[in-house]
Amino acid sequence: MSTPASPAAPASAPLVAVREVQKHFGDHHVLKDVDLDVARGEVVVIVGPSGSGKSTLCRCLNRLETITSGTITIDGVPLPSEGRGLADLRAEVGMVFQSFNLFAHRTVLDNVALAPHIVSKVPLKKAREEGLALLDRVGIADKADRFPGELSGGQQQRAAIARALAMKPKLMLFDEPTSALDPEMVSEVLDVITSLAEEGMTMVVVTHEMGFARRAADRVIFMDDGRIVEDTTPERFFTHAESDRARAFLSKIL
Ligand code: ADP
Ligand code: MG
Repeated sequence: MSTPASPAAPASAPLVAVREVQKHFGDHHVLKDVDLDVARGEVVVIVGPSGSGKSTLCRCLNRLETITSGTITIDGVPLPSEGRGLADLRAEVGMVFQSFNLFAHRTVLDNVALAPHIVSKVPLKKAREEGLALLDRVGIADKADRFPGELSGGQQQRAAIARALAMKPKLMLFDEPTSALDPEMVSEVLDVITSLAEEGMTMVVVTHEMGFARRAADRVIFMDDGRIVEDTTPERFFTHAESDRARAFLSKIL
C-alpha cells in the first residue's frame, strides 16, 4: 500500500541568508552584491580563483570580518556586531581553516573539550566524554592524550574538526581544509567532511578539490572578483558551466 503524500510543508527558512552584501577593505571592493541562501542540511561548495573573495565571505559568515553593507542572518537572527550575541554566534558557526590552529601545549582531547567547558559551561567530565566521542567519530580517539605536534597534518585537521563540532554548531564553515596537507592525507579529511554531510550537517566548504565538490555538494558557487558568478548544481557546473570565467577556471583546474 502506498503511503499517502504528506501535506506540503511550508518551505523552511534558510539557515543562512546573505543579502546584497558588500565588503570593502579600504578602497578595495572585495565582496560585490553577494546574495546567498543556505538551506538546512545543505552542502554548499564555493570554488573560484585565488583572491576572488571566498575566504572573506566565510569570515563574514562567522563575523571574523564585518560587512560594509547588506545583511547576513543565521537561523533568522541578523549577525550581531559585538558583545554577547557574538559569542553565541561563534558557538553556532564552527570554522575549520587551512591551518589547524590547535593549541600546541594542550592535549588533543583538551583542545576539543576546553571550549565547551569554558565557553558553554559544560562540566569538564562531560566535556571530556563528549570530546572523546567526537575524536572517535573523526577516527583519532587513540590520539586523545597526545599533543598536536605529535600528530600528522591529517590527524590535526581531524582534531580541528572535532573541536569545532564540540560546540554543537548549526553550521560548519571549511576554508580550504585540505590545502595545507600532504596529498596522502587529503582523503582522510575529506572523508570526515563527507560523513558529516551525510549526517545532515549544514556546511559551506571552500575547496579546490573538484572530485569532492562533485561528490558532496548539493550546490556549487563559483566566485570571481568578489561576485557570485554561478550558483548551480555540481552536475551543471562541471558539465555546462555558463560563464566564460567559470569555464576558464575549470579548464585550468581539472
Ligand atoms: P580567496 O579566499 O578567494 O583567495 P580572499 O577572500 O582571501 O580571497 O581575498 C579577496 C580579496 O580581498 C583579495 O584581493 C585580498 O587581497 C583582499 N583581502 C583579504 N583580506 C584582506 C585584509 N584583511 N585586508 C585587505 N585586503 C584583504
Ligand atoms: Mg582563501
